[in-house]
Amino acid sequence: NTFEEFGIGEELVTALESLRYFKPTKVQEEVLPLALAEKDVIVESQTGSGKTVSFGIPLCENVIWEENRPQALVLVPTRELALQVKEDITNIGRLKRIKVTSVFGKASFDKQKSELKQKSHIVVGTPGRVLDHLQKGTMKVDKLRYLVIDEADEMLNMGFIDQMAAIIEFLPEERQTLLFSATMPPEIERLASFYMKPDRAAIK
Ligand code: AMP
Repeated sequence: NTFEEFGIGEELVTALESLRYFKPTKVQEEVLPLALAEKDVIVESQTGSGKTVSFGIPLCENVIWEENRPQALVLVPTRELALQVKEDITNIGRLKRIKVTSVFGKASFDKQKSELKQKSHIVVGTPGRVLDHLQKGTMKVDKLRYLVIDEADEMLNMGFIDQMAAIIEFLPEERQTLLFSATMPPEIERLASFYMKPDRAAIK
């Protein structure tokens, strides 16, 4: 199989080739058709499965370049992962000139605030700092159409469940949500049933 078969734009296929991604991984095979069809998806998968590309592609495919305000939010448990995911999505979206901004704690709030004032198609961040920007009004979410929750079980372990819920309360209800987790503890199942569409798909 190839990435072309999913009907994604040529710029993305070319970018994937230059990253030497020629064939979709199993999780990408399963997630891409659903995610590109705007379905909510819960994915039980480990790091190393290629999950980042499986959400990076639909986000980059669907971003409207002319819109300056964030269209997608990716929540991750750590600053390291935020930087990694930002780099991965930036590489996938390079030929479309997609702007990815990362926000996380223990880094300058004001610097992030001014970055968020510039064109930011996709924001990748850790829950505490994202919530801070939402409460202070320095991150606008009125144009937000996509939410990705990455490593949901890790976020639960790190005590971020209430912050995640508080963040989601700020977001437009009309959106697509993708949730990735290595395990599915009941708290994550509950979050999914509360904040994701009833016809969501689940992939193992
Ligand atoms: P992840 O599960 O997102 O942490 O990705 C694991 C690793 O797989 C990363 O180093 C990616 O660069 C790599 N990767 C993702 N998709 C592909 C693909 N289709 N072909 C080859 N490598 C890939």
